[in-house]
Amino acid sequence: MIDGKTLRVAVIGAGPAGMYAVEHLLQEAEFRCEVDLYERLPTPYGLVRAGVAPDHPDKKRIGDRLFSYILESPRVRFIGNLEVGTHVRHAELADWYHAVIYSVGAGSDIRMGVPGEELSGCHAAREFVAWYNGHPDYSHLAFDLSCERAVVVGNGNVALDVARILTMPVAELEKTDIADYALQALRNSAIKEVVLLGRRGHFQGAFHNPELEELERLADVDIVIDSEDLPGENEVVLDDADWETRRKVKTLARLSRRPLTGAPRRIVLRFLTSPVELLGDQKVEQMLVVENHLERGDDGVLRARPTEKESLIDTGLVLRAIGYRGYPFPGLPFDDQRGVIDNRDGRVVEGDLPVPGVYVTGWIKRGPRGVIGSNKKCARDTVRCLLKDARDGHLSPAALNADQVLSELAGRNPALLGLEGWRNIDRGERLAGAHQGRPRIKYTDTETLLRSAAAPAG
Ligand code: NAP
Repeated sequence: MIDGKTLRVAVIGAGPAGMYAVEHLLQEAEFRCEVDLYERLPTPYGLVRAGVAPDHPDKKRIGDRLFSYILESPRVRFIGNLEVGTHVRHAELADWYHAVIYSVGAGSDIRMGVPGEELSGCHAAREFVAWYNGHPDYSHLAFDLSCERAVVVGNGNVALDVARILTMPVAELEKTDIADYALQALRNSAIKEVVLLGRRGHFQGAFHNPELEELERLADVDIVIDSEDLPGENEVVLDDADWETRRKVKTLARLSRRPLTGAPRRIVLRFLTSPVELLGDQKVEQMLVVENHLERGDDGVLRARPTEKESLIDTGLVLRAIGYRGYPFPGLPFDDQRGVIDNRDGRVVEGDLPVPGVYVTGWIKRGPRGVIGSNKKCARDTVRCLLKDARDGHLSPAALNADQVLSELAGRNPALLGLEGWRNIDRGERLAGAHQGRPRIKYTDTETLLRSAAAPAG
């Protein structure tokens, strides 16, 4: 029996946004929250597992430290390898639970919209990231690393992540949990130079300063920066820019003053430059770019405007890192302009009216911005809305109890797995990694993941 103080909640998506939502629900004192955490993959933790760069183990550790602890709660059930929208419909979940929270992230990306983008050799950085992180949906992809120069379009942290992975000594990556096939491909890589294209100037980079400072510590990689607009050594950055921007510009200035060492690889940061067209016969061979100048709009924002100055860059690999984008979710209203499930502060809305008992958190709520930790407050705000609605009597009763839900789901997908299955995968990967002094060796295809889930590693 479900009493008036028990809330049965389905959280869809076990990435950081979903994990923080579960944490907040468990901390709730007024209601006793019981959570079913649905995940399409056999593995939890979303971008912590398949997005964070492998050379950032501290950021990945949140999975072991906090998220695994959350999964161990007796009030949480992990329901992995089950796809909401395929095995179960949104309308059914809305009926079965008091409330449903979607934390499905941003599974797509923005295109550059230039001719030639469809040529082979041009990819979304999002796919490259998922590939080197061993995401089972992307492990079959092939990236041609046989050219000498790659171009990364965009000036955010994702652009810096892929530039680092493409240039850093493979010996460093051999200590990480990067997918084995990616390690092998990088060992054979011919890439000597990665050019990062920022469409705006040095003051407008979307990357963060700690990530920029990492470039200073990259072994065997020269950093080349066009330095026209950068301050000199003793010059104070007096622009009306904020503190974070000034720090970034100082880091860029420092980087630009470093003497080149003739290192085997280099990263070139080019600013005020946009792609115009990708050229090649079937495969990318060159990128036509244009120099930009900045123009302040009526809203005060500086935007890139093309000049007449065009030039060609020889390249065989183009990665666009210009932002992620959310997918519409079957049965839920979508804000196509922002690429999010339509919501007000986490309550899903249809027009101006809230859809009772349905909530969002993370990138599918606010768009693809922010670091892992940003999801904590985002999830807390959403959970607060949910609890207020519960208090105000706006949630409908849950039609099924926990056992009924599970037997219904198991009937539809006998291959769904619970926490024990994930524990088996986790143990197996760690054990394999320990033999090579690595945190884990990831299983990267669904078949192996499911086989490992079924068999405890010994
Ligand atoms: P992002 O931070 O939004 O950066 C996107 C970049 O693409 C910006 O430089 C943007 O320039 C540029 N851009 C957009 N449209 C463009 C176009 N049509 N042509 C050329 N350039 C274009 O996105 P992201 O790098 O994908 O990162 C997503 C979020 O994840 C961010 O909040 C990021 O901080 C976070 N993240 C964090 C880490 C970390 O903590 N280490 C790692 C990876 C990602 P404009 O500024 O001119 O629009």
